[in-house]
Amino acid sequence: MKTIFNQALIEKYDKPGPRYTSYPPATEFHQGVGHEDYRRKLKESNVKANPLSLYVHIPFCESACWFCGCNVIISHRKDVTRRYMDYIYREMDMLKDNIDSTRPVVQLHWGGGTPNFLTVEEIEELFGKIEDSFRIDVDAEISVEIDPRYLSEWQLEAFRKVGFNRVSMGLQDLDLEVQKAINRIQTYQLMEKVMKDLRDLGFKSINIDLIYGLPYQTPEKFKKTIEQTIELQPDRVAVFNFAYVPWLKPLQRKIDPSTLPPPEDKLTILKMTIDIFQSAGYVFIGMDHFAKPEDELAQAQKEGTLWRNFQGYTTKKGVDLIGIGATSIGMLYDAYFQNYKTIRDYYLAIDGGKLPTMRGYLLTEEDIIRREVIMDLMCNFQCAFDKVERLFGIDFEERFSEELEELKGMEEDGLLKIHDRKIEVLPEGRLLIRNIAMVFDQYLKTKKEQRFSRTI
Ligand code: SF4
Repeated sequence: MKTIFNQALIEKYDKPGPRYTSYPPATEFHQGVGHEDYRRKLKESNVKANPLSLYVHIPFCESACWFCGCNVIISHRKDVTRRYMDYIYREMDMLKDNIDSTRPVVQLHWGGGTPNFLTVEEIEELFGKIEDSFRIDVDAEISVEIDPRYLSEWQLEAFRKVGFNRVSMGLQDLDLEVQKAINRIQTYQLMEKVMKDLRDLGFKSINIDLIYGLPYQTPEKFKKTIEQTIELQPDRVAVFNFAYVPWLKPLQRKIDPSTLPPPEDKLTILKMTIDIFQSAGYVFIGMDHFAKPEDELAQAQKEGTLWRNFQGYTTKKGVDLIGIGATSIGMLYDAYFQNYKTIRDYYLAIDGGKLPTMRGYLLTEEDIIRREVIMDLMCNFQCAFDKVERLFGIDFEERFSEELEELKGMEEDGLLKIHDRKIEVLPEGRLLIRNIAMVFDQYLKTKKEQRFSRTI
């Protein structure tokens, strides 16, 4: 089913809202939940013994991209990693003391920052330490975010040799004027070479990130970037909407706001992006993501098993996510935990012999039921009442009578259809999926929406 861009509906419904990489969203995390809760919840999670997904955060980058909102440390000193790695090993030792060692790791992801800030020796050492600490499944999805500008062939070979089988990389925009304005020069020729090397080494599910709404972008120029991206034949593409919030993300102060494309150009770019990727055979997964029909993400969506976590869409529903390193987030069945964001605080907590938990959230039964509905809508564009009733022993129509009433306006507008005891999102509602999910969000009813980015 294709996604349809309906400008009138987008203008009617566009408002700030969560991206639902979790429910409740991270804005609900608080410092009343700390390292002792994490320890307790990790031990409890051993009873269910869900498989594990590990996320390792490498916060270092060689240079600053001025659009970036990640928690990064810009450094040219390669020796900054030694100390950091020693601390993540200490964190892993603490985690190991609380997690049943027989639980398989079915997913491992290194993100950042720039994981290829690490040398070949460090890549091998860190991976070896993870293998010593956890049981990595033979079929595990093992992925890494790379920055092609600072990638050597030796590093790429090292990633593959230790076991990485998937890669994600930022491209953003191929136009030189745009690249200069965001301090990120990255040529098509470089991307072509890296893609070839990745394919030759046998990496699968290669993802490329683009951003629309950057300085000096126009629909014509971004069209060229999209066409060149399609020539590279990535398996997945994420096209993020640039949010200019220099008061929250200080690197963005380097961007002159008068060079940003006006809202009408951004809408044109969004429409064009969806049309071109769909015409080239990519499936619109939802939010900002496209995938080839044979890719695991598109397959999982087809089978109704797609899920979301802090890294975006995932094929691994029902795993416990363990975050390692500064800023990283862990998600257990009924609790979320985030590590300290600065490496100074992160080191201090570990020196104090504690898991470096800065804040978290303990889910209620109501949260868990609503998460199921929201994630089903976000990922699979539908929600079957029977499924939710079977899982939680509730009467869907009774429990969500107010929400179903609220959805009627969206049904009249053609965003969705409620039939045969299910909510089905229609092609014109797919782009507005956050708005549909927001109807089931209990926290939005009491909190201000302004803290979130706009839904389109
Ligand atoms: S966009 Fe990537 S490479 Fe650039 S500063 Fe942010 S994390 Fe580092």
